[in-house]
Amino acid sequence: MPPIRVRFAPSPTGYLHVGGLRTALYNYLFARKNKGTFVLRIEDTDRTRLVDGAVENLIATLSWAGLTFDEGPTVGGNFGPYVQSERLEIYRDHARKLLSQGKAYYAFDTPEELEEMRKTQEKMRVPPKYDRRALRLSETEVKSKLDAGVPHVVRMKIPETSTIVVDDIVRGRVEFVSDRLDDQILLKSDGFPTYHLANVVDDHLMGITHVIRGEEWLSSTPKHVLLYEYFSWEMPAFAHLPLLLNPDKSKLSKRQGDVAVEDYRQKGYFPEALLNFVALLGWNPGDERELFNLETLVDEFSLERVGKSGAVFNLEKLQWMNTQHLRLMTDDQLFGLLEPYLEKAHLGSLHREYVLKVIHLMKERVDRVEEFISFGGYFFADPESYDNQAKKKNWKPESSTYLTEAISSIRGLNTYDEKSIEDVVRTIAERHGVGAGKLIHPLRLALTGLGMGPGLFELMAVLGKETCLRRLERALARLVEH
Ligand code: GLU
Repeated sequence: MPPIRVRFAPSPTGYLHVGGLRTALYNYLFARKNKGTFVLRIEDTDRTRLVDGAVENLIATLSWAGLTFDEGPTVGGNFGPYVQSERLEIYRDHARKLLSQGKAYYAFDTPEELEEMRKTQEKMRVPPKYDRRALRLSETEVKSKLDAGVPHVVRMKIPETSTIVVDDIVRGRVEFVSDRLDDQILLKSDGFPTYHLANVVDDHLMGITHVIRGEEWLSSTPKHVLLYEYFSWEMPAFAHLPLLLNPDKSKLSKRQGDVAVEDYRQKGYFPEALLNFVALLGWNPGDERELFNLETLVDEFSLERVGKSGAVFNLEKLQWMNTQHLRLMTDDQLFGLLEPYLEKAHLGSLHREYVLKVIHLMKERVDRVEEFISFGGYFFADPESYDNQAKKKNWKPESSTYLTEAISSIRGLNTYDEKSIEDVVRTIAERHGVGAGKLIHPLRLALTGLGMGPGLFELMAVLGKETCLRRLERALARLVEH
């Protein structure tokens, strides 16, 4: 067996689609699992779809996700260049080879002529297909048109009435009838190859052993199989990954939600969570496990466990996974991730030690990093208002007496920690013959403005004595007033 080589071959359209991320991930996992090579190849031969900065953006997104490639633009390798627009001569050479063997032919039709042909076919209710009128040109006619510089394309000559078999690791044996296939354009009039020619030539020249890509390319595969035969090249193995679906089972589309990896990144999703999520869109470990990181995925992954049926992109599942991954992170890791958000909220000057304590306390209560700030606002500023419902429920006429007593006991504390705070609260409660809740709720309201949150004693210890006293005094004045 030759060493395994796989590739991710995106067209740089401006952003990385979540389906593309899954394709990249499966290729990466397959390569790592089999000690193979993961190649990144940029398929930029469609000049009408070029977007500035798209390649840089794509590479940055892959690197955010941690999917490092072994060969490709920026890193190089022995099979480069890895950008198709830098390989044009190679494709032209190969097209010439097919032309000389009669497996491809020149066609000189104008867009208007092709449109006319399509309309006629439509009227006659025959499937639209190139009618091969160019094959009726004599050799001299072709030559004189070429000499005169008449714009032309090179088309592939598809055999009539043969069955083309694609052996697919995921889908098994898939048969195609050649009559249905169009004489595919291989080289366009601008001299650029189409996807089909460039893709096959490069997969061969780059020694790709397994082509792992989305199901939407399955219908192109018979043309690729024919090209391998025309060139007498050994065929790679094919694995077509199931479609990604919206919850209503339609094909995943922008209209129903975000499809760009960058959108999820911006919303604060972790790369670990997004990878874990897309890993399970089409693949399963064979048991109930759902939480994986890149390393455990490499250990577990196999193409044999990729299913055929479409995989539903379930946002709630992604959110759940994100939360799970957040809980698995260390406080330090979370600090690193929170820093940019702190900066943005002008909280960059807070002491690391303090923020770490907040993280520790809030970790079980947030789903995303920015929520440390949006849910834990009271760690960073005194409350400006008090939640009405909580006030109604928990602020009683006797609450101000308890708070006043708490203020004076706290003031006398030399050690201000969870234990001493709890003692203060329990002593006052006992003195009045009430449950500790009668103090805990109004204290929380006074300190945070809210009715819910992490354990009160821990919270007070984190806030510190001075902040607590200041807030309690302010609250006393303001809550009694109302
Ligand atoms: N350039 C194609 C894409 O944009 C690659 C398909 C393939 O992997 O063959 O997805």
